Amino acid sequence: MKFGGTSMAGSERIRRVANIVRRQQAAGHEVAVVVSAMAGETDRLVNFCREANPLYDPAEYDVVVASGEQVTSGLLALTLQALGCKARSWLGWQLPIRTDDAHAKARIGEIDSEALLASMAAGEIAVIPGFQGLSDDNRITTLGRGGSDTSAVAVAAAIGADRCDIYTDVDGVYTTDPRIVAKARKLKYVTYEEMLELASVGSKVLQTRSVSLAMKEGVRVQVLSSFIDDDATPADEIPGTMIVSDEELEGLDMERQLITGIAADKNEAKVILTRVPDRPGAVATIFGPLAQANINVDMIIQNVGRDKGETDVTFTVPSADLLRAQTLLGAQKEAIGFNRIITDGKVAKISVVGVGMKSHAGVAATMFRALADRGINIQAISTSEIKVSVLIDEDETELAVRVLHTAYEMDATDQAA
Ligand code: ADP
Ligand code: ASP
Ligand code: MG
Repeated sequence: MKFGGTSMAGSERIRRVANIVRRQQAAGHEVAVVVSAMAGETDRLVNFCREANPLYDPAEYDVVVASGEQVTSGLLALTLQALGCKARSWLGWQLPIRTDDAHAKARIGEIDSEALLASMAAGEIAVIPGFQGLSDDNRITTLGRGGSDTSAVAVAAAIGADRCDIYTDVDGVYTTDPRIVAKARKLKYVTYEEMLELASVGSKVLQTRSVSLAMKEGVRVQVLSSFIDDDATPADEIPGTMIVSDEELEGLDMERQLITGIAADKNEAKVILTRVPDRPGAVATIFGPLAQANINVDMIIQNVGRDKGETDVTFTVPSADLLRAQTLLGAQKEAIGFNRIITDGKVAKISVVGVGMKSHAGVAATMFRALADRGINIQAISTSEIKVSVLIDEDETELAVRVLHTAYEMDATDQAA
């Protein structure tokens, strides 16, 4: 069972969580719980790091930001004990949860689950802080924002759990963020492939890595709400969303929708390099150094060449890396041979995702038409087998998501707008 930040925000909420956990144990399950820091706490800690040193050492950043989960894991163990349950916390370094040494974005390697399993078998509820691990040289690492989802899936895989229940502040995965579109519909099932694509284009309900790990390790993941009444349906009867394999979904004989979901991501920034020489190797000199600096380039457009053998190149990078990208490209101005660098951090990427589009034409056309009818300008486009993404002005994010949700006939009919 994993509980996110809102579920852990304060004593009252933690008591609610403890009761949900206790009920699962009473139903006969052995339980390991992974917890997030209290909502807002990780942001607060990140800010302290920035104030202390704007060019902070990621290893020390990890020492600071991992502390939020240490607090909540201890508090949940205490609260469970107050309810009469046997419980103890297992910090990342105590198990340990081994990771690589990529501080602030570490990847989980191995988890030693022996002591954990022994304690669970003895009737103790194991409470594990999410987000944190231990590098080979015994330093604390963290897994990147939203990483507690990944901790939970990794622990579930390590102990061979029957299921990994991700409790959050919404009761499942919706066709789009229910906080943006009131008419979003809850999905009973979503495939790993679709969830992976949705997460990677901005549906932060699950961290992308948690989905790829679950897919690789075959972990059954369910997303559900911790904000339910104590006597509500137990987790076994799918009150939330189950992540399933493609074959499993076929077996369920569900009517397959063309589009599964729509996601928005405001954390990208646009870069335009003007008057780049239009010759072989030119773009390699742009993207080579960015790759070396570990900056992920997402959408790319090379415009039709102008006169005099020149062309404009447009692409997007994560907003957090914009300054670094700009500095790096500035230093390579001569080598690349561009004229000007223009950047825009006020953009958003809107994506529609669905396995159904593998076999259906017209998905992109519907998207472009719907946006055009509302006067929303498209600045860049990218596609994959099951996704179409467009880049637009950030101010039009909510409007675009709503318009597309209606255009693909996904609006719920039984709810007020
Ligand atoms: P937690 O703290 O529990 O990890 P998060 O804030 O990370 O919670 O993720 C839950 C949030 O994800 C929801 O409150 C919702 O606003 C957002 N969200 C974005 N896209 C979706 C979606 N398609 N379905 C459900 N929630 C979504
Ligand atoms: N507390 C961490 C964060 O806010 C990890 C998590 O909650 O998943 O990013
Ligand atoms: Mg989260």
